[in-house]
Amino acid sequence: MGDQPDARRNTLPTVSGAAARVEVVQTALASCHLETLGDTLPESLKPEATAQNTGRKRPNLRLGLYFTPVRNGMDYLAKAVDDLTECTPPSARSLKYAVLHLQAATEVLLKARLVGEHWSLVYDDPRVASLKEFQKGNFKSCGIEATMDRLTEIAAVNIAPADRVAINNLASDRNALTHYGHTADAFLIEARTARVLSFLITFIENQLRPMLEAKFQEAFRNASEESFRVTPANVYKVLESPEVAHAQRETNEVINTMGDLRLKLGRVEKLVDSRMKEISGELAPWKHCTVLCPHCLQWALVVNSDGSFNPIKCHFCLTVYNNVELAAIDYAMHVVGEENGTVVECSKCQCETVVIGANIANDKDSDIAVCFNCADIYTHSHPSSAE
Ligand SMILES: [Zn+2]
Ligand SMILES: [Zn+2]
Repeated sequence: MGDQPDARRNTLPTVSGAAARVEVVQTALASCHLETLGDTLPESLKPEATAQNTGRKRPNLRLGLYFTPVRNGMDYLAKAVDDLTECTPPSARSLKYAVLHLQAATEVLLKARLVGEHWSLVYDDPRVASLKEFQKGNFKSCGIEATMDRLTEIAAVNIAPADRVAINNLASDRNALTHYGHTADAFLIEARTARVLSFLITFIENQLRPMLEAKFQEAFRNASEESFRVTPANVYKVLESPEVAHAQRETNEVINTMGDLRLKLGRVEKLVDSRMKEISGELAPWKHCTVLCPHCLQWALVVNSDGSFNPIKCHFCLTVYNNVELAAIDYAMHVVGEENGTVVECSKCQCETVVIGANIANDKDSDIAVCFNCADIYTHSHPSSAE
């Protein structure tokens, strides 16, 4: 094969926000059995079909329209990361605001996940929960401690003891910074902030985002049932219905903010230190096939070593490449550099995934050619059939 990435294969970007949005919609459409163009709309609009399709009345709670914390939470989180990355190390003032924003983000996003389980769970006392009052936002919500208890015990969300402590301590950290300024304690606070940030990123990817995507699909299904069947003609109408549009906005908010954050995470010094330490155990067996992640530029992208074509993941920022060939191209362009990066076919696994000029974690200084699909290393002559 030639030594240029095959543009025709480059059809399914899997990591950008726009692509993820498309994927969400596509998944929803797939799960709602979108009628093909061959199906005729009049058939679906027959009176009996209409009655059948709208016969099942679903409760229309419109929860999201009244309780919309996700956008705020992601906004606080973005601000916290901005505070932390403004200068290195962060000034006392930025650190204070980072703590404030991160504390708000944590509380709001944990509660959003709890509402996803059931709205009554964010009541300070669920026994007096009233849907009407909840929808008006007129109720006393539970504290961060109770939120974590309920997430763990009711929603089976795993919160490590060290993360709990760090989250609980954020409030006192803020007070310390307000009253004593930037002292030696600031380093501890910085580390703790990094710890909570690290926790939140994993929480958002593993808990919040899947929940929001499921909500979007559910809203889409409900709206489709209300408007008979989803057809190419009315799919946009369904997407524009308030519940669906809201669910989609919240999902997009998370996807877009996370996309922006990934670019900045590598700059949060303490976060990098503590998170790299945290994941060093899981990365240890894979040093021979770990490369720099094009997104966060940490040594945490573990490529395939078995020729399986499986998705590959960065253990630091949790970016997943569903297509290993695109990962190789992304790496060649953003890590090796547009002019130097070349991707060629692997003679062992026959996949176009050998990046020339790459570096691997157990030999960071040598430029080698490594296959992102089978981890085969070409040291002497690269596999390009140039000669
Ligand atoms: Zn990464
Ligand atoms: Zn290979």
